[in-house]
Amino acid sequence: MTELALTPYLPLIRTVPDFPKPGILFKDITPLLQNGDALRAVIDDLAAAVAHLDFDVVVGVESRGFLFAAPLAYKLGKGLALVRKPGKLPAVKLRQEYALEYGTDAMEMHVDALQPGQKALLLDDVLATGGTAMAAATLIERVGGKLAASVFLVELGFLNGRERLSTAPVVSLLQW
Ligand code: AMP
Repeated sequence: MTELALTPYLPLIRTVPDFPKPGILFKDITPLLQNGDALRAVIDDLAAAVAHLDFDVVVGVESRGFLFAAPLAYKLGKGLALVRKPGKLPAVKLRQEYALEYGTDAMEMHVDALQPGQKALLLDDVLATGGTAMAAATLIERVGGKLAASVFLVELGFLNGRERLSTAPVVSLLQW
């Protein structure tokens, strides 16, 4: 891949130790969002990274995925569909549960969020274990869409989340 426009701004992705739990190194993107040039760079880099992919709609994952999914969809002239946390979506929806280290969590998607066969580009800020993205990918298929690719700003490669999403291309701008 060519040099990222984002490269000069990498210090704006702040690593916060022990958040939200001891032992987690949290990748905090809020300083990056606060910088206009950095925000434009990340959207431009995401657009370049997905230029070779064939898809119809961007699917953003709540909540930090939304921050990048909406401007990327706007830039590419695509629609935007949402994967949300439970209890947020008002209309008829499907729920997908997934395992956490302790217990389970869930994501939801409107049944009419995608047209039959529509090709979806899944987007979130961080790929860690892949559980969230896998749940979102399953929802995309359950509502009748097709997963075209999964795209992330940051991939925590040591957690091997990519392996769980390997039925479609997995793209990340930055690997830690
Ligand atoms: P996972 O389901 O383990 O792949 O976790 C992915 C979700 O949790 C994404 O929506 C991320 O925003 C968030 N996440 C997980 N780990 C981190 C981390 N180290 N830093 C920032 N966000 C994280």
